[in-house]
Amino acid sequence: MTNVLALIGLTNGTVGSPAAALLAGASRLGTPVAVVVTEDPLGDDVVSALGRAGAAQVLHYSTSDISSELITPMVDALESAASVTSPVAVLIENTIDGREVAGRLAVRLGAGLVVDVVDLRAEDGNAVATTSALGGSYVVESVVDNGPLIATVRQGALDGVAAPVAAPAVSSEAQPLSTVPSAVVESHSDLQVTSSRPELRAATRVVSGGRGLQSQEKFVLVEQLADVLGAAVGASRAAVDAGYVPQSSQVGQTGVTVSPQLYVALGISGAIQHRAGMQTAKTIVAINKDPDAPIFEIADFGIVGDVFTVVPQLIDAIGAQRR
Ligand code: FAD
Repeated sequence: MTNVLALIGLTNGTVGSPAAALLAGASRLGTPVAVVVTEDPLGDDVVSALGRAGAAQVLHYSTSDISSELITPMVDALESAASVTSPVAVLIENTIDGREVAGRLAVRLGAGLVVDVVDLRAEDGNAVATTSALGGSYVVESVVDNGPLIATVRQGALDGVAAPVAAPAVSSEAQPLSTVPSAVVESHSDLQVTSSRPELRAATRVVSGGRGLQSQEKFVLVEQLADVLGAAVGASRAAVDAGYVPQSSQVGQTGVTVSPQLYVALGISGAIQHRAGMQTAKTIVAINKDPDAPIFEIADFGIVGDVFTVVPQLIDAIGAQRR
């Protein structure tokens, strides 16, 4: 059997869509094995949800250190899981923590690492990972020749679902104490997130605005369209630098990378650094008054026009369709 490990993070104790995407990716390469690290026992509902998302096996590691130690418990768990399952690949979410887990695991296993993977397939017994390089100018396919492929997978990039498994095999064990020094959290304060909009990185729809929005006050148009579409709000760096929105909204090479089903770019020229963060979106819609704006080179649908004329009509039309 060809095992593929997927490190599953639970969202408020439940299995979210990023976990399902990792298991779907794992199923393309072999038999998905979910690795879950928690302080609490694993509930039957979580195991059932993992089975529905395609996990044939669930390896649960319980640890008392997950909230006080950074990263190391996850690396320990994956190292232990790899020693018992001999996987061809280990899939991890491409988040800041995920990349650190992946890097540390690759060092421990002496394995090859590919980050920000946008596609995965099996070929001649190898796991082939696809990445987008140099601002999307090149598509790179990689296989590793040392150990399993350790891959961080871009959220929203993988299509499809794995076949559900009615009753995954479950094994639970206490995480052995790590001999590896770990950074310890001494104090923290939670960031208050007041927005009811989806989180940008994982959103299935994103509406972004650029310098063409002209001011912080007028940027509200982006938010209005986002709200009628149930989308997250993004921005170009020029819009961030001009103070229209906080830096956490920046999409691109030095911001967040998104891969939604729908990306709407308003008043964004489409510089290569912006495209690097959004061009794997499934459908791209651009509205720009310059017919030669580079964003139209990658747009599936383009409207040449003034955002302040076009977008209100768009919002009205969507509202009318719903009434
Ligand atoms: P502009 O390029 O000024 O484009 C504004 C567009 O709005 C124009 O196409 C214009 O025709 C259109 N427009 C104006 N008014 C209207 C209107 N009323 N209606 C319709 N259209 C209108 N950029 C990023 O976005 N993300 C990054 O992560 C990023 N990282 C970078 C890293 C480096 C190292 C460097 C050097 C640059 C980076 N940049 C990044 C900046 C990038 O090169 C561009 O400068 C930036 O993306 C431009 O933003 P923009 O499209 O909003 O502005």
